[in-house]
Amino acid sequence: MKRLMVANRGEIACRVFQTAAKMGIETVAVYSDADQQAKHVRSADIAVHIGASEANASYLNIEALIQAAQQSGADAIHPGYGFLSESAAFANAVQNAGLLWLGPDADTITQMGDKGAAKALMTSAGVPVVPGADHADPKAAAEAIGYPVLIKAVAGGGGRGMRKVDTPEEFDAALQRAQSEAQSAFGNADVLVEKWIESPRHIEAQILGDGSSVRCIGLRECSIQRRHQKVIEECPPAFLSRKAQAAIEAAAVLAGQSVNYRGAGTVEFVVGADESFYFLEMNTRLQVEHPVTEAVYGIDLVEWQIRIARGHALDQLPALTAQGHAIEARLCAEDEQGIPSVGVITEFTIPNTARVDSAVASGDQVSRYYDSMIAKVIVHRPSRAEAVEALTKVLFDASITGIDTNRRTLMSLLSAPALQAAAIDTRYFEHHSQAHPMPPMLIAAAKWPLAPQSGAWGADGFSNGVGLQHCWQDDQDNLYLLKANGNQRTLSFAEQSIDIVLQGGARFTADGQVHHYQALGCDDGIEALLDGRFYLHRYAPPASLDGGDSHQVLAPITGRVIQVAVECGQQVESGDLLCVMEAMKMEHSVLAAKSGTIASVNVSEGNTVNQSQLIIEWADD
Ligand code: ADP
Ligand code: ADP
Ligand code: MG
Repeated sequence: MKRLMVANRGEIACRVFQTAAKMGIETVAVYSDADQQAKHVRSADIAVHIGASEANASYLNIEALIQAAQQSGADAIHPGYGFLSESAAFANAVQNAGLLWLGPDADTITQMGDKGAAKALMTSAGVPVVPGADHADPKAAAEAIGYPVLIKAVAGGGGRGMRKVDTPEEFDAALQRAQSEAQSAFGNADVLVEKWIESPRHIEAQILGDGSSVRCIGLRECSIQRRHQKVIEECPPAFLSRKAQAAIEAAAVLAGQSVNYRGAGTVEFVVGADESFYFLEMNTRLQVEHPVTEAVYGIDLVEWQIRIARGHALDQLPALTAQGHAIEARLCAEDEQGIPSVGVITEFTIPNTARVDSAVASGDQVSRYYDSMIAKVIVHRPSRAEAVEALTKVLFDASITGIDTNRRTLMSLLSAPALQAAAIDTRYFEHHSQAHPMPPMLIAAAKWPLAPQSGAWGADGFSNGVGLQHCWQDDQDNLYLLKANGNQRTLSFAEQSIDIVLQGGARFTADGQVHHYQALGCDDGIEALLDGRFYLHRYAPPASLDGGDSHQVLAPITGRVIQVAVECGQQVESGDLLCVMEAMKMEHSVLAAKSGTIASVNVSEGNTVNQSQLIIEWADD
């Protein structure tokens, strides 16, 4: 292997190039129209244009990719994750073109690509699988298993095409939606029905195989998910007994051996509250969250993918032991509601106390065509508590401007007390993604260094009263009184009064207890870190999308209109579907905010519109 092409984009392409360069291998990037200036293109020795921006015309275009490899003189292809990484057709095409494929054999990909077939194979290998039922009729299967059940696309991935059903009454509608979602996302409407595991945790095993032996390189916990998509991952899993860890690792090795696995792969399990565990699926590729394993086990997984492809045997890999704790956060171009954000990143700075695997740099454009993930931030510390605090701080100190990101959501997730308890399951995100409001004493302490004359003071009701006395009324009509005397403040609210002494630097004492804090004034409020946890004080509630003129419906995102559900003159009820938009692989339904008559529809299917563009107008009431 002298010249390696990565048939992918973004951070994973950059990540693979780094290891290739370290090993003295030349690198080839491929790019679409939208990615001409992208970081992965700048990071490679050679770059080849493969087609238009839509993934189907470029990153999913097998012919164009093989041609790019031949044209650039590449002798090997790394597929990254997503796109064609789990396509048996692509693996075959690469090998038929005489190129080295950095993945498992096409047969293995096919065997594992169908969740139903994979489960059957695992059962025969002795690996526990999620209870299901063998019924031609999905509803009969659900009855046999007992509710709640989960309907899943057999060809599914990325958390799409999945629906939990709680009662028989909801089953038919859910089945229909799951099937149509599966058809449009994967071109295959087949679904399977399985038991819903209560309080589910997602635990997965990293494996490496050389075709004859398989090793497990520890486990990862990925239970913090939004809509079945991972958001924060850690290694090793917290709160899992050694016994369960060992049993899951053994099951993962068994799973790998049953297909004579070659390369790097992940065996995913769902784990119940009683630590019972069940095989979910096997991902026959490098995973987004692989860096936490690399940190804890001191291994370069891409280097081992390359070594295995070159024919090295796994027994050259020394025994590895876990050291400390690593956590990764996926930084995405989306706002706090999860709505994709498209645009130019004016500043992208993340402190170098973390490993940052990024797809972008200052000045780069985030387009609407691909996944919203722009970087992964990974920290590795001796203990879990230290890792959590360090990651929160890195995110707090990061400055990313020009587009919206989920930075605050990530910090909020890391700051909830529940993170420290053995209470994490896949519902964690639902309950802990909102920022904690700032304790009044922190508001008082934080606002002080933010220059009393700056807008930050007046903006939320503090008024410069007589001398250094300020009063402020919050949304609940609580009245706060702040008296300042040198470094000493007295904050009174309700019947209480707290003495705060600013101690210089980032410390203050409140009622005799020392706290560490850091505060940052933003346009919409104050962000603060208090004793390692993130708090947010908003001056006003976040603006809602349908705010403004009630005569107009504005596009919530920059993206493509994939369905228009209403026409001019139509009478609709509040909550009815108006249209569906798509950006960054996510679909957004635009619903009627009120009942009324549609006066005009200014878009049609296939149109690309900008955020806040007028798409529909209401008739006068
Ligand atoms: P993981 O368990 O690693 O998150 P997924 O199956 O969710 O595995 O997919 C891996 C990553 O690849 C995800 O971030 C997903 O959003 C991304 N991805 C999947 N398909 C595509 C695609 N067609 N284009 C771009 N990114 C994709
Ligand atoms: P994908 O291919 O989209 O990654 P998975 O089968 O890996 O699909 O499931 C994605 C997530 O959905 C899991 O990480 C888990 O949180 C949840 N999940 C899957 N199956 C079950 C189940 N039977 N019970 C509860 N949660 C599940
Ligand atoms: Mg999965």
